[in-house]
Amino acid sequence: MKPSDDELGFLSCQEIVDYCFDFLSGSLPETDRKLFSAHLRNCAECMRFFETYRKTPEVSREALALRIPDRVRVAVRDFLRERYEPSAASEDSSTRR
Ligand SMILES: [Zn+2]
Repeated sequence: MKPSDDELGFLSCQEIVDYCFDFLSGSLPETDRKLFSAHLRNCAECMRFFETYRKTPEVSREALALRIPDRVRVAVRDFLRERYEPSAASEDSSTRR
């Protein structure tokens, strides 16, 4: 079942990515926090992104945020793929061809 435009319309996925930091640091206004949470409930991709973001150390967060321009979906997908595929991660550390 797809969420209606009304439920997702308040904030775009791009804004969710932008708001992640403010939400976690507590500087996001109450109204925006509600919209943020509502979007997460209705958007599985943002929910997964947020869960990942929340577990990311602060230093990496900045780099992550900077790496996200318009191609949010692609970036998020790649990021999640790296995170959630253990085999790819272990291969990466050995850097063999
Ligand atoms: Zn979203």
